[in-house]
Order: sequence, then C-alpha cells, then structure tokens
Amino acid sequence: MRRLGVLGWPVSHSRSPAMHNAALAQLGMSDWHYQRLPVPPALFEETTRGLGRAGFVGANVTIPHKHAALELADEASQATRAIGAANTLTFAEDGAIQAENTDAPGLIAALGFPPRGMRALVLGAGGSARAVVWALLDAGAAEVAVWNRTPERARQLAEELGARAVAAPEPADLLVNCTSVGLDVERSATEDCALNHLGLTGDQVGTYSYVADLVYRSTPTPLLAAAQARGAQTIDGLQVLVAQGALSLRLWTGREPPLEVMRRAALAAPELG
Ligand code: NAP
Repeated sequence: MRRLGVLGWPVSHSRSPAMHNAALAQLGMSDWHYQRLPVPPALFEETTRGLGRAGFVGANVTIPHKHAALELADEASQATRAIGAANTLTFAEDGAIQAENTDAPGLIAALGFPPRGMRALVLGAGGSARAVVWALLDAGAAEVAVWNRTPERARQLAEELGARAVAAPEPADLLVNCTSVGLDVERSATEDCALNHLGLTGDQVGTYSYVADLVYRSTPTPLLAAAQARGAQTIDGLQVLVAQGALSLRLWTGREPPLEVMRRAALAAPELG
C-alpha cells in the first residue's frame, strides 16, 4: 500500500481524503490510499519524520503546521521559501523530505485567467494570504493591496512580500478573501454581518469584476453570494482546494489528476465532518 495523507490539528473537517481517494480510484491506483493524519504541534516533527518509513509517499499540510513543515524539510522550492509555508511534503526513499507550496499555483489555476496587469485586493494576513499575495505578484499583478482586521499583520506581510497594506478595502479588479469569515455557517448567517467583518458592503462587493473566496463550503459564502447577485465573476474555495490538491497529487504520482471527479467528491463530503 502506498500512503498519502493530510497533516493537521484538527483535521476532521478536511475534504482532502474524499477528494484524493476519488481521484486515485478514477486513476485505477487501488494500491494507494489517502488518510487524515491528526497530529498536535508537539508531535509534528517526530511524526512527520517517520512517515516515509511508514510507507507514506507524501502528505498535505494544513493548519497549524504549514510553517513547521517548511522548517523541517531538507529541500524546498524557492517559491515555498519566499511564501514561508509548505502545504505539500514528499518523502524520498532515502528519508529526505521535499517541501512545496501548491496553494499559490492552485489559486492561479483556479482563477482560470492570468491576473497580469490587474489590481488585486487581498483580505487577510494569515498563511493563505501569504501564498495568495506571493502568487498574484509572481503572476504579474500590477498591484496587490492587503487589508486585515489586525492592521499590523497586513503591514508586516505587505512589507515582506512587496505588496501595499491598506487601512480599509479599496477598489480593485480582483478581490480575494483569505480570511476565515464565512467558514462558520452560524456566525456568518446573514450577508451583511459577514461582509461587515470584512469591512465591506454588498454594493462595494459589486464593484470588483472578479471575486474569489478561499473559504470552502457546499453553499456560496456570503461574500460570493453578494458578488454573484451583483454580476461579478466568482471563484469559490472548492475550486482552489481542487486545484492545489491536483497539483500535489501530480507531484506524488506523476499522473494527470481528474479535476471534475475531485470537485464532485469534495462537494459531496459532509459540510464539517
Ligand atoms: P489563518 O492563518 O488562521 O488566518 C486567518 C485570517 O482570517 C487572519 O487574517 C485573521 O485576521 C482573519 N480573520 C479571522 N476571523 C476574522 C473575523 N471574524 N473578521 C475578520 N477577519 C478574521 O488562516 P489561513 O490558513 O490563512 O486560512 C484562511 C481561510 O482560508 C480558512 O477558512 C481556510 O480554510 C481557507 N483556506 C482555503 C484553502 C483552499 O484551498 N480553498 C487553502 C487555504 C486556506 P487577524 O489577523 O486579525 O486574526
């Protein structure tokens, strides 16, 4: 059995096992299996270093381990180092660990158009915002502005990656939500309430031509619902999840991932289970 998995704490909400196992089945790779790997921070390094010996070919990495994954890797791509976080680890037979970040190219793939020359506004200053800001600048965006609830974090991220921190959301061609607002279905039940957390009104959302939301759930997030109602082109978090997962799967297996099968499986997975 060749093993793959997702390292996180908690990781019970992850749709990656459903998505990857559907892809492996479609590809006829019945001797491969993808599983959840719930690992607390204190055990991350020891557990991860043992995965290669336990038959793991690779693992995705999610909250809160993306920085630690980069730190323990023996090799990392230049992009992964610049972003400062890894979401994909590959275990070589000699025990070496290779780190990659597929969140960044996954976003660009999910957009479906090159953001070259565009003005972008990124909401959030956490791990995914770092990957998105780096990806947009790398793909030739003319300008990337960053807004965050805690302004100091936006300032620091912008300074490190060459973006511009803003005190309030500004007009742009492309808006990307990298906060977790919209994840908690109960808390963000009303559109106005959710948008308020992002410093936006529904009419403001309508001024962006393209709106992407990294939060993934089966129904449109309040941000995407507001954008769709006002005619913006939208990219949902599942598209980004599928794109980054497909890039990881291609790295581990060398096979072309079946994107539509992956999307259907990710959509069918229980909302939070
Ligand atoms: P993170 O590092 O924990 O960052 C969370 C961000 O959300 C911070 O900027 C935080 O602001 C902001 N935030 C949290 N609650 C807020 C609120 N009530 N109002 C305003 N801002 C709030 O998380 P992350 O790794 O960047 O992930 C962010 C989201 O993207 C998560 O929902 C995650 O599931 C999703 N994601 C999706 C994909 C995908 O493939 N679709 C990939 C990665 C992440 P402060 O700095 O002020 O705390």
